[in-house]
Amino acid sequence: MQFHSLDIIEPILKSLQEEGYTTPTPIQAEAIPIVLQGNDLLGCAQTGTGKTAAFAIPILQLLSESHSNEKKRKIRSLILTPTRELAIQIGESFRAYGRHTGLNNTVIFGGVNQNPQISALRNGVDIVIATPGRLLDLMNQGFLNLRDVEIFVLDEADRMLDMGFIHDIKKVLAVLPKKKQSLFFSATLPPEIVRLAGTILHNPSEVSV
Ligand code: AMP
Repeated sequence: MQFHSLDIIEPILKSLQEEGYTTPTPIQAEAIPIVLQGNDLLGCAQTGTGKTAAFAIPILQLLSESHSNEKKRKIRSLILTPTRELAIQIGESFRAYGRHTGLNNTVIFGGVNQNPQISALRNGVDIVIATPGRLLDLMNQGFLNLRDVEIFVLDEADRMLDMGFIHDIKKVLAVLPKKKQSLFFSATLPPEIVRLAGTILHNPSEVSV
């Protein structure tokens, strides 16, 4: 199996080649077609399986295929993740795979000065990767809005709950548009995670690696 047999567009194939990726990992081979079809996804996968590319590649493709004509970029995809380190890694992945698409992203997390994050948002951004607390903080100050989000990702959901982010997650969910595509990733699927997934996902396809 090769990436081009997953119907990935040329600008993304080119960057995958530049990254030295030759074959999709199992989660990528399963998840990419599901996401490209517009379906919700429940993915049970650990870090190290290639799950970041499993959502980043099809998100970049969907957003580039339906470019908005407006001059000002809007936040069209939001990825929530539990830690600053993961947020930075995911941001780097989006940058690498998306470098020929014209789409940009920014990373938002707490514990640092908010001003550089605010100026990045002011310049306009297509994809935001964030930890929940700082995201809500900037939103409550009026520096960003999430009403144009088309694709939402909850990454490492079990860790998010362990870290006590459930209330923040619910606050974010409350301001997202009802009509959107949602992707949910967790390394484990205990009952409370399945319940949370049930409140977010519509007819999800399930992928487990
Ligand atoms: P992740 O599970 O998303 O943290 O990815 C684990 C590592 O695998 C990262 O360093 C990726 O750059 C790398 N990776 C992801 N997909 C592929 C692939 N198809 N071929 C080679 N390396 C990959």
